[in-house]
Amino acid sequence: SKRARLDRFLSSYLQINRKDVRLMLAHNRVTVDGVVAKNIDQLVDEFSRIVLDDRVLQTNSRVYLMMHKPVGVVSATKDEQHRTVIDLLDNRVDKNALHIVGRLDLNSSGLLLLTNDGRWSRQLTSPQNKVTKVYQVTLQNPLSQEYIAAFEEGMYFAYENITTQPAKLQILSEFVAQVSLTEGRYHQIKRMFGRFRNPVLHLHRTAIGALSLDPGLAPGQSRELTAYESTHIN
Ligand code: URA
Repeated sequence: SKRARLDRFLSSYLQINRKDVRLMLAHNRVTVDGVVAKNIDQLVDEFSRIVLDDRVLQTNSRVYLMMHKPVGVVSATKDEQHRTVIDLLDNRVDKNALHIVGRLDLNSSGLLLLTNDGRWSRQLTSPQNKVTKVYQVTLQNPLSQEYIAAFEEGMYFAYENITTQPAKLQILSEFVAQVSLTEGRYHQIKRMFGRFRNPVLHLHRTAIGALSLDPGLAPGQSRELTAYESTHIN
């Protein structure tokens, strides 16, 4: 969220000069988040509630949603061919400002986060933060113990010239594994199982950091995060 000086915001929004802005503030006519603004160099951002007299100039609230992404819906805000996750939201939220925090492939399902808060999504996706993402993966061929070490060790991908970070693989049953990653390379899980020539039949994300997919959400459904959830993400 970009921060700007309050006098800049007011002069551009109201199309008045800085001197008139000073006067407004001197007369205690402006509040920011309910507090009378005195200083022209006070910083505001897109989520500051800015009121002049009784006129609300800006009031954007932060939105944090978790969705149970269904298979066959694209993790994008616009798409020519497929329905998008945005199309699945009801009209309670302002869809325009939302972006997706960590995409899932078209044929993957599970936990998807959406927000209008860029600072929040950067915390979750910034590689340095190594936020753990957990996936349940269903495979075509049986799993074996070798997978565990290979995922832990990391795999070299020549295309990007990177070695994957240590990943945790647990075998849940003959054809089902739980994989925890702290990064998100392009089609990473499918490519890692590709090393064993074992096609992924289904990929379902169950958690991102401290956030787990709410079992009460059917595919396609979403809900707002609680205040606690949105502030305890890691
Ligand atoms: N890895 C994949 O291959 N696909 C996803 O959707 C997420 C991780």
